[in-house]
Amino acid sequence: MDTPHRSGHVAVIGRPNVGKSTLTNALVGAKVSIVSPRPQTTRHRLLGIATFEQGQILLVDTPGLHRDQGKSTATAMHRWMNRAARGALEGVDVALLVVRAGQWEEADAFAYQALHQAKVPVVLVVNQVDRLKDKTALLPYLAQVSEGREFAAVHPISALKRKGLEPLVKDVLAMLPEQPPLYAEDEITDKSQRFLAGELVREQLMRQLGEELPYATTVEIERFVVDGALLRIGAVIWVERDGQKAIVIGKGGERLREIGARARQQMEQLFGAKVFLETWVRVREGWSDDEAALRAFGYHD
Ligand code: GDP
Ligand code: MG
Repeated sequence: MDTPHRSGHVAVIGRPNVGKSTLTNALVGAKVSIVSPRPQTTRHRLLGIATFEQGQILLVDTPGLHRDQGKSTATAMHRWMNRAARGALEGVDVALLVVRAGQWEEADAFAYQALHQAKVPVVLVVNQVDRLKDKTALLPYLAQVSEGREFAAVHPISALKRKGLEPLVKDVLAMLPEQPPLYAEDEITDKSQRFLAGELVREQLMRQLGEELPYATTVEIERFVVDGALLRIGAVIWVERDGQKAIVIGKGGERLREIGARARQQMEQLFGAKVFLETWVRVREGWSDDEAALRAFGYHD
């Protein structure tokens, strides 16, 4: 007899930088969520749609909860990211609690507690096992972390190297309700190409700018035009001060060219089309703590 088709929503929860977006992309099979070595790369809640023969997993990728949560020093951007992370639990069937192999911090325990209280089945995903120098440390680590906690399943994986994903998918699918796919099988995310284009520019800002500068930037797609087989995209990079603008542009415009070139490559790969990308840098003072500016730049529900 055929096994029934299953589908449902799966929240991807965890501290910043543990690999939530990398895992989402690995399961979807495309870069729907941007990734960088820096914490707080993900700012929006985003659905990654992973379609398999036996079922469909709708991954809710989230910004990690920001440490300034609730404090008066939290900017409007931090409050937005925290709302997006918390809202991710609404209506989910399963949560993947992603942690980094060998590490278990207070924030991990806090996230587990929150999921447990919300009565969502929690699958512990121990990511980045490829970085563990001493592989024999894994078993004691798993035992220690599982002690006194209820996990529906525990999976050591490497999202980056795509190791251990198959058994994870199998377990997660088995926990989802029997129902037909909720999205068409060629859909990979709930976000528009326009949104994804902006994110791919922002990914390069996270990767190519040093220190605190990426956090003072955002990207607005001013133009997104399908012109035959070509996509014409115009992106504005917003910064908070004139000095930052000069750094993003770089000597002789070199850095901005590199940011544009890499972002364009990524867009062509994701959209499967030729892309003509223009970029500008503009200043809007204090945008990251300005509710009206945030809404204008797409940080709204
Ligand atoms: P997020 O903040 O939890 O979404 O984390 P990201 O997915 O943005 O990943 C943060 C960093 O960890 C990036 O540099 C990733 O390439 C890296 N990373 C993610 N998963 C793995 C993994 O399994 N192994 C290794 N070595 N690095 C990983
Ligand atoms: Mg992320």
